[in-house]
Amino acid sequence: MSALIDSHNRRISYLRIAITDRCNLRCQYCMPKEGVSQFGHAEILTYEEIVRIAALAAKKGINKVRITGGEPLVRKDAVQLIHHLSLLKGIEDLSMTTNGILLAEFAFSLFRAGLKRINISMDSLEAEKYREITRGGDLAKVWAGIEQARLTGISPIKINVVAIAGFNDLEILSFARLTLKNPFQVRFIEFMPLGHSGEWCPEHCISTEEIKRRIQAFYPLMPVENRNNHHGGPARLFKLPDAEGEIGFISPISDHFCNSCNRLRLTADGQLKTCLFSAEETDLKSLLRSGADDEELEKKLAVAISQKPLRHSFTAGGIKRCHRPMVKIGG
Ligand code: SAM
Repeated sequence: MSALIDSHNRRISYLRIAITDRCNLRCQYCMPKEGVSQFGHAEILTYEEIVRIAALAAKKGINKVRITGGEPLVRKDAVQLIHHLSLLKGIEDLSMTTNGILLAEFAFSLFRAGLKRINISMDSLEAEKYREITRGGDLAKVWAGIEQARLTGISPIKINVVAIAGFNDLEILSFARLTLKNPFQVRFIEFMPLGHSGEWCPEHCISTEEIKRRIQAFYPLMPVENRNNHHGGPARLFKLPDAEGEIGFISPISDHFCNSCNRLRLTADGQLKTCLFSAEETDLKSLLRSGADDEELEKKLAVAISQKPLRHSFTAGGIKRCHRPMVKIGG
């Protein structure tokens, strides 16, 4: 087996697969309120096609797979897909990113199907604020999902918070305090320029340094070795004194981690992306549906990886910027 190494000597070992672009929430910074265009049924990859690509990628050295979306749990039979992926040789780490709304219903069967850990996006701890940010989401359902995941044994449970000025920045301390009595990893993620209609602006982005500063006004942050991320994750981890959980910082804007980026993304409509911020895509769906054999698919994969950009660039003169919102890429 030849490993997937890009032209900057990065070993590519992580595939994020979006299985739908549909979502049961409408987070203000991610999707427009109405008029959301959605891929038709025939446009998205079937589970058989997804498993075929994942198996091929695993054969070439991908050992970590994350299922995402859209909201992955709104797609029918997502549990079966997890089961099929968990059986693939070479996949050592299988996880999911979800908004948690449907998690109470599915946690147990997901765990039984082979999902061992989960990331839950939750941008507010206040029910009303959460409803506002998500345009209608019920925070109680997310908590029920987290509780069910915990009872089931899914671990670690990571809670992702996109910190946005004027949105949830007054809750930074509450999120940090959540780790005192709970074994969660609360991860603050910098807001990235991937809006549905230019929602992003630098003034909305709160840097990791600023988030740390606000926490450190009340608690020391003690560095923790990033053992959870043995497959190479970008979070820098800390702990509050005597806390059960951990706090992670993911800083794609202020301290990009492109040099160690080991990721590929497969969109729900079958496009392979080697950089979240680049518009470059490789059309695996057309190739699959034209009857390509594994060798052709492997070649396409290798070419795409050889062209993985060295780093993202938000400024002019950089790579051609991606205009898909997160929901159509797979966050
Ligand atoms: N529905 C699932 C969920 O909510 O976790 C998976 C898809 S969602 C697009 C994945 C993650 O992307 C969420 O945590 C969301 O907050 C994040 N996200 C969306 N737009 C973002 C942006 N512009 N910057 C940073 N994170 C973003």
